[in-house]
Amino acid sequence: MPNGTCSYCSGTAVYRREHEGVSFCSSCFRDAVEERFRRTVVRNHMLQFNDNIAVAVSGGKDSLTLLNLLVKLEKRFPRSKLTAVSVDEGIDGYRDEALELAKAACSKLGVKQLIVSYRDLFGTTTDEIVSLKLGQTPCSYCGVFRRKAINKAAVMAGATKIATAHNLDDEVQTVLLNMLHGDPTRIVRSGPVLRDPRGRFLPRIKPLCDIPEKEIVLYAYLTGIEFQTIACPHSHEALRNDIRSFLNQMEINHPGTKFTLLRSAEKLRELMDEDVALSELHECVKCGDPTTHELCEACTMLQAILA
Ligand code: SF4
Ligand code: ZN
Ligand code: ZN
Repeated sequence: MPNGTCSYCSGTAVYRREHEGVSFCSSCFRDAVEERFRRTVVRNHMLQFNDNIAVAVSGGKDSLTLLNLLVKLEKRFPRSKLTAVSVDEGIDGYRDEALELAKAACSKLGVKQLIVSYRDLFGTTTDEIVSLKLGQTPCSYCGVFRRKAINKAAVMAGATKIATAHNLDDEVQTVLLNMLHGDPTRIVRSGPVLRDPRGRFLPRIKPLCDIPEKEIVLYAYLTGIEFQTIACPHSHEALRNDIRSFLNQMEINHPGTKFTLLRSAEKLRELMDEDVALSELHECVKCGDPTTHELCEACTMLQAILA
């Protein structure tokens, strides 16, 4: 915790943004996070006045902060609507607590919540998939099913777009992951706003992409947002964890590294945008969702799991 006074008022500083050389008291810090959130939304044209936004809410710090910030912002858009969509992956001793926290937050904020489960949608759970020891990491299955589940819930809610809670750290970790996987075109196909020019997928927005993870934790703490703190028992992302440690160390030694990397990815997108051809989409023969293959990724995985 920094010593000294807030750079904006005479209050006691609780946080220092090293790369900007400014300190914040708790009130100015919250204002600064809200302002940065608002600027990201405006700069990237993320919201229209009559949007119906499905907010992916897991019960963790990021998604509950996102929900709180969107509720505040949405008050300026009386014709817009928010629905929290939560996914029950079926992870014993983990997901129940998170869903309870998400439920409590939604009722406090007056936001309708829609919960969908892997059991209902796919006939299995993450715990069951893990017990099959299929070779790939649990997250590779769980991540694909979660994307599909959120899409389904968003469609059920009549949403016009999906908001997810990826923060600055998530985004720059993914940029480096894609480089290390030898897949730079994924960087171009990612970003703060994902719009499918073919119109087959709901647009996705990431309004927290300019806010570092540690600022989200502090914002949640200072705002009294209760979130789940235990980690998923199946979490196993060795390469991402190494990248996280590397970037955190770089940020300490060279403040501003994460923002520079995010801006580099943005510049790369501007340069390459027109050159990345979009594959043709068909309907998955099993579930009807758009896919570039005969079966979508989730149905391909389910075939192997339920075989
Ligand atoms: Fe699923 Fe992996 Fe997230 Fe656990 S950490 S909920 S297994 S994606
Ligand atoms: Zn202040
Ligand atoms: Zn399918």
